[in-house]
Amino acid sequence: MTIVTRFAPSPTGFLHLGAARTALFNWLYARHHGGRFLLRIEDTDRKRSTTQALDAILDGLRWLGLEWDGDWVSQFARRPRHAEAAERLLAEDKAFRCYCTPGELAEMREKALQAGRTRLYDGRCRERHGAEAPSGTAPAIRFKAPLDGESVIDDLVQGEVTVANEKLDDMVLLRGDGTPTYMLAVVVDDHDMEITHVIRGDDHLTNAFRQYQLYLALGWEAPAFAHIPLIHGADGAKLSKRHGALGVESYRDDGCLPEALANYLLRLGWSHGDDEVIDLQQATAWFDLDAVGRSAGRFDAAKLENLNGHYLRAADDRRLVDLVMPRLADELAGQLAEQHAITVEARLEQGMAGLKERAKNIVELSENAMFYARKRPLPLADKALALLDSEARRHLAGLRPGLDAAVDWKADALEKLLRRFSDEERVKLGKIAQPLRAALTGAAASPGIFEIMEVLGKEETLGRLDDAIQGA
Ligand code: GLU
Repeated sequence: MTIVTRFAPSPTGFLHLGAARTALFNWLYARHHGGRFLLRIEDTDRKRSTTQALDAILDGLRWLGLEWDGDWVSQFARRPRHAEAAERLLAEDKAFRCYCTPGELAEMREKALQAGRTRLYDGRCRERHGAEAPSGTAPAIRFKAPLDGESVIDDLVQGEVTVANEKLDDMVLLRGDGTPTYMLAVVVDDHDMEITHVIRGDDHLTNAFRQYQLYLALGWEAPAFAHIPLIHGADGAKLSKRHGALGVESYRDDGCLPEALANYLLRLGWSHGDDEVIDLQQATAWFDLDAVGRSAGRFDAAKLENLNGHYLRAADDRRLVDLVMPRLADELAGQLAEQHAITVEARLEQGMAGLKERAKNIVELSENAMFYARKRPLPLADKALALLDSEARRHLAGLRPGLDAAVDWKADALEKLLRRFSDEERVKLGKIAQPLRAALTGAAASPGIFEIMEVLGKEETLGRLDDAIQGA
């Protein structure tokens, strides 16, 4: 059997973390088993569905590396097929037309709630025949849900779960205006798309029983279900915006790498021994549903940040340059004109190994890289300014001729030169290196100073030095 999974978001908002994790689990399960991962956009709610939300979902999935197979499917476009299934159930007496007015339904609901019944609809149209139908109302089509017995689902994460059928309502399949409900559309689509495994948040578990009954009525084999626990915030409540949980694009904007977020989401609810760092390739080899936990994972921003730092240090330098350049260009509006941009890019590529050791995300990396991009004279941070007192400037002025005469402009050679100078002057190396750092970077902390000199080159180094000596 070929495994076929799907991710079925409604395009009514961004791709939030819980949804992204659902997509990830479906993707991994399909990839691990050599199957297919499909994308269905549940866009039947025309008022709330937006193209921005759709784009955010597609971009978010691509960014995370969760490519789907084939074209994505629009649920809305399939509504004739949904209607056809409802009509068939009607013809087979497994569904009925309901003429109840909103007023009647509200009254029924009230009564049921008072009596403590979960079945809200009282079944009054079940046996009402066409001839008795009130004219002028467009009837809905409701499912004749079983009145007794139980529905049992052997959930791949939750185990065997049972519900008494008396709790299942005669749910609406097709509304009076001919539009399908989620419950009908999802079953018809999953069947037609030949989905073998439905993996989704456990907030859908109660829907699964209703969907299961629909499969039976339609004479179709139900897929296997796996309902994964939701993600909670640090306070134990369901993760929401209140916890600062946003769409995946805001994590990207905040400097998160996609592989770090994917790894983090994977570990929220799935484990492989004590392994923490698991990339998608490794996860594909290991992933299966039996290691999905039954309790909700708690979102921990610090853990995500640590993972991000790990992946950042492991990332290819050239890729990081491409991620940093647009941020620098934004920050230094207008200063990164063509020729200078080429210089800056070359510096970043050379200096990236040192820079990436010191950052936890792309925002920090970009801030730390800014000194390679700024034009002279550099703005000096307060701490840098404090390092450049008159004594320090004297040292720098003393150092300048030696640097000017240097032939070998490499980090090793420059280090030797500086050490020799500090010996001769009888001042500690730090007394020279720190002001030098302040002069060359405008800050009191940076990657290694000799490496920076090499990357900046002689001319730029001497220029920045002069600015500092002259107090520019
Ligand atoms: N469209 C539903 C949602 O976004 C998902 C339905 C499903 O996975 O069955 O929650």
